[in-house]
Amino acid sequence: RVKDEGRGAFRFFEAVMDVQLQNRRALEQELRGAIGRGELRLFYQPIVNGSTGEIETFEALVRWQHPIRGLISPAAFIPLAEQTDQIARIGEWVLDTACAAAAAWPLPWRVSVNVSPKQFRQSDLPALVAAALARHGLTPSRLVLEITEGVFIQDADTAVAVLTDLRGLGVRLALDDFGTGYSSLSYLQRFKFHKIKIDQSFVHRLGQDADSLTIVRAITHLGHNLGLQVTVEGIETAEQLGMLRDLGCDQMQGYLFARPAATTASEFDRARLRSLFAEAPMKISA
Ligand code: C2E
Ligand code: MG
Ligand code: MG
Ligand code: MG
Repeated sequence: RVKDEGRGAFRFFEAVMDVQLQNRRALEQELRGAIGRGELRLFYQPIVNGSTGEIETFEALVRWQHPIRGLISPAAFIPLAEQTDQIARIGEWVLDTACAAAAAWPLPWRVSVNVSPKQFRQSDLPALVAAALARHGLTPSRLVLEITEGVFIQDADTAVAVLTDLRGLGVRLALDDFGTGYSSLSYLQRFKFHKIKIDQSFVHRLGQDADSLTIVRAITHLGHNLGLQVTVEGIETAEQLGMLRDLGCDQMQGYLFARPAATTASEFDRARLRSLFAEAPMKISA
């Protein structure tokens, strides 16, 4: 009996795996046509000045508006795109769309674009970036590329060469998700980024353990001593803002300020952002 049950459970397991595989194949197939059908969307989330709350940058975050499945998050389809060599096309669309949007904004905010490691390796990024900037007449310094330390795995020398070319174009380079990888510190030595973005996991733990604040403070000091700007992301509550307020981080980003939205940048409530900073306790640190 036990054996039978075991076999039954296994068949059930197999059936579930089968459905998952079919789902994945279907999604993969649908993703191939998504750009052509105009189903990809860019959402924008403000990144504000760490002491005034003024918007400095908008991060472009891709979504897939699926006709039946609804809005699909990048976490669900970017890995799929990476595994099926569609990431280069999607990345090119994101870059072009973000540059076009930024060029039309009423104020010269920067636009920050995520580049996945696979995309970084698959495409001639400097050429694509130069073409997108030229096509939309966007000043290079208004474009920020967010990369992760994943670009250094496999061939670090080539990665440094590509990054150097990108910097030569005048775009800004940010090291995203800082602190979560294996050896982020050594990458700060290998290439001079403009800024680092401290991973949101540290901010989320601020209330629970005192070490998180110590780590955020230490990374901020490290960044500043290396001449880099430091952005803290994932700020959700006024309490977190209060704790981070006197660390001297250059920029902040999180749901407290605004969630990513499809809205055009000019519609964000800038007065509300400023007031959040006016209300936060100002501690005078020695
Ligand atoms: P990321 O670049 O680290 O982006 C930050 C993510 O955190 C975004 O999720 C954003 O919506 C979310 N976030 C911002 N503030 C808060 C907060 O206060 N609390 C919480 N819990 N989350 C917050 P999203 O848009 O789902 O993107 C997830 C990841 O997908 C991104 O992480 C990035 O790695 C990737 N991604 C997004 N758009 C693109 C893209 O166009 N190209 C590539 N290659 N990757 C992308
Ligand atoms: Mg990012
Ligand atoms: Mg990040
Ligand atoms: Mg992330």
